[in-house]
Amino acid sequence: MSADDRLAAYRRKRDFSRTPEPAGGEPVPPSDRPRFVVHEHHASSLHWDLRLEHDGVLASWAVPKGIPLEPGTRRLAVRTEDHPLEYLTFEGSIPEGQYGAGEIRIWDSGTYDPLKFLPSEVMVDLHGGRLRGRYVLVPTGGNRWLLQRIDSTDGPGREPLPRDLRPMLAVPGPLPDDPEGWAFEVKWDGIRALAFAEGGRVHFRSRRGNDISSQFPELRALAQRYPDTSMVLDGEIVAFDERGVPSFERLQSRLGVAERRARALAEAVPAVFVIFDLLFFDGRRTLTLPYGERRRLLESLELEGPHWQTPRAFTGDPETIFAAAVERGLEGIVCKRADSPYEPGRRSPSWRKVKARSAQEFVIVGWTPRKGAGFGDIGALLLAYYDPPSSAPEGRRLVYAGRAGTGLSEAEAVRLARSLAPLASEEPTVEAPDAPPDARWVRPELVARVEFTGWTESGRLRNPVFLGLRPDADPREVVRETSELSA
Ligand code: MN
Repeated sequence: MSADDRLAAYRRKRDFSRTPEPAGGEPVPPSDRPRFVVHEHHASSLHWDLRLEHDGVLASWAVPKGIPLEPGTRRLAVRTEDHPLEYLTFEGSIPEGQYGAGEIRIWDSGTYDPLKFLPSEVMVDLHGGRLRGRYVLVPTGGNRWLLQRIDSTDGPGREPLPRDLRPMLAVPGPLPDDPEGWAFEVKWDGIRALAFAEGGRVHFRSRRGNDISSQFPELRALAQRYPDTSMVLDGEIVAFDERGVPSFERLQSRLGVAERRARALAEAVPAVFVIFDLLFFDGRRTLTLPYGERRRLLESLELEGPHWQTPRAFTGDPETIFAAAVERGLEGIVCKRADSPYEPGRRSPSWRKVKARSAQEFVIVGWTPRKGAGFGDIGALLLAYYDPPSSAPEGRRLVYAGRAGTGLSEAEAVRLARSLAPLASEEPTVEAPDAPPDARWVRPELVARVEFTGWTESGRLRNPVFLGLRPDADPREVVRETSELSA
């Protein structure tokens, strides 16, 4: 059968005076190896079309749930009519009323090795941007086939799981004026963590790179979702309160406890890993993929479980999204540029955090005793931050920000006193003419999270409330955060 004969069904279904799709028959540059393309097709129902160059046409399958990325998963693939080779590079919008009406975009493309191409079985090694690996297609009756990835994950061209990645950070700022090209996520109030999963095991690392896995035993089962592959996920470990709002206070009780206690607390104050990015998957770094594509890949993994979830990213009017987040009692939103790569360890303007209320970290530089209480009992914490924020740590100095006395429970004051005692310092590390005369100074090594309503003109915190210690935060990274909306 000639290519022309093979395209009869394709042509019969289309009116080429109305659809931008190619009619076929144009010369297409030859290739040493057969090519493939996967289209993301926003037709009446979203699906992905896998097309393999074969015998002068593109043998095509529609895969409703997308091409499986991990070995073992089977997906239904519906054999559709052969498409012309020009479709290898086709993208566009098929008008209403035409066959397959809707947006059609290239999701991946590349070449492949045809290991078998039989009516009873098609087996290929795909060499694409996203898809790399061995796939098999087997007919199950009518036009229905099963598509499965069948290689193991330690094949050639795979990188070992990276261990050195650090989370990308957001810059505080206003909502974008032009929401085009931005996506919006809820800002989760918890502990930022990267999950490194491989071979059914997972490790969680804090922003500073500390392994905090033993604190959260209930999160371990996450790795069992894809035991045969490797991945690095970016997210936030949170503890929800009765209203379903993340409570940093609750989460705090999970930190710095011994392993046995951690297991008990996992029952009493369960944690959830809220996943929002994918940095590595199945032997490949995904850092250079645009945010939008990383998200699509992440969502295709369907990571939903008792202690982990992948909340959606929103597009649309940022004011409305922000208002909805505030209404629900959330901390704010993070605006992310859809075309931006992941910049590990960097505070990047491609990510912008907009907070409903001001809360940030401060370095503890001293304390004052509680009035009329016993020795060592803490009444207020003296707080500071490094300035200027942009310079290297050596070029910065500590600036006094005021004191926080509210929010300290008696038990907490006792615990803090114990942590601060070994840090005692004769001399203050900040210039603080307005600090109380009974101030006790400490070396700037502990970080506190503090909520406040704004700044005074002389640069002191208004109504600061102590929320807890941040053992995961680096004191040298503590700077004054500014946000137009959070004053
Ligand atoms: Mn289609």
